[in-house]
Amino acid sequence: MRKAHAKDRLRDRVDIITGAASGIGKEIAHAFVREGAKVAIADLNLDGANAVADEIAKGGGGAMGVAMDVTDEAQVDAGVAEVMRKFGRIDILVSNAGIQHIDPVVDLSLADWRKLLAIHLDGAFLTTRACLRNMYASGRGGTVIYMGSVHSKEASPLKAPYVTAKHGLIGLCKVVAKEGAAHGVRANVICPGFVRTPLVEKQIPEQARELGISEADVVKKVMLKETVDGEFTTTADVAELALLFAGFPSNALTGQSVVVSHGWFMQ
Ligand code: NAD
Repeated sequence: MRKAHAKDRLRDRVDIITGAASGIGKEIAHAFVREGAKVAIADLNLDGANAVADEIAKGGGGAMGVAMDVTDEAQVDAGVAEVMRKFGRIDILVSNAGIQHIDPVVDLSLADWRKLLAIHLDGAFLTTRACLRNMYASGRGGTVIYMGSVHSKEASPLKAPYVTAKHGLIGLCKVVAKEGAAHGVRANVICPGFVRTPLVEKQIPEQARELGISEADVVKKVMLKETVDGEFTTTADVAELALLFAGFPSNALTGQSVVVSHGWFMQ
């Protein structure tokens, strides 16, 4: 479908993707490299990040692994500085690192609440701040893409901190879109439905236990029940939307959140 433009949509752009050692972030890294970008794979899991960077390098692309806990201010600033040293510019941030936690509100510990908000919201703030400083200073602007979720728009039981954090990303995105416009920086949110990554594989048995149903029913009656066709969204679907946001040529597309979910959520 997108082959006509392959190889040039992101030529020479430098992209930092957090949480890109796995799942959605990893797929976006490969998709951006196919379009000519250089990518920094920033992850808590440095071995995993380096493995993705090696895979990309073997295919002839530019990539580096960066050790980064997105909740740690010093690590984020140091990681972004490392990318600047190696690649000399930052054009795109994909703030994607995330985890899930399954518990009803009445059983949720403050520590779990804080951990989840820290990864999703502190992480988005810290990486945005560090990248914006470079994008503004360069005079070239750039693009920030946040990995939201259908849970940026909709709630599910057992996911209070996740739903709260994902709604919060839309607020941050809108502020960055307004502040960034004068510097040529756009910001948007991708809101995927369920994608079968390790994050989702882990919660299938957890939800089955909490809800007292089988794992097959978690997939069919919880995760995919409201979709138009009973299908999971794929990492490739999400990467395609990331490419659209990353490559869009003007401020006409900023401050938006787009759902890619097989119709689970329709706005
Ligand atoms: P995943 O578990 O496959 O990958 C998440 C990555 O984030 C891992 O490599 C992990 O090491 C990294 N990470 C976790 N904590 C980190 C931290 N503090 N600092 C740096 N890296 C950290 O998960 P995924 O499904 O690919 O999820 C990626 C993003 O997509 C998340 O923000 C998630 O909420 C969002 N999302 C996922 C789905 C889905 O169904 N899988 C749906 C909507 C949104």
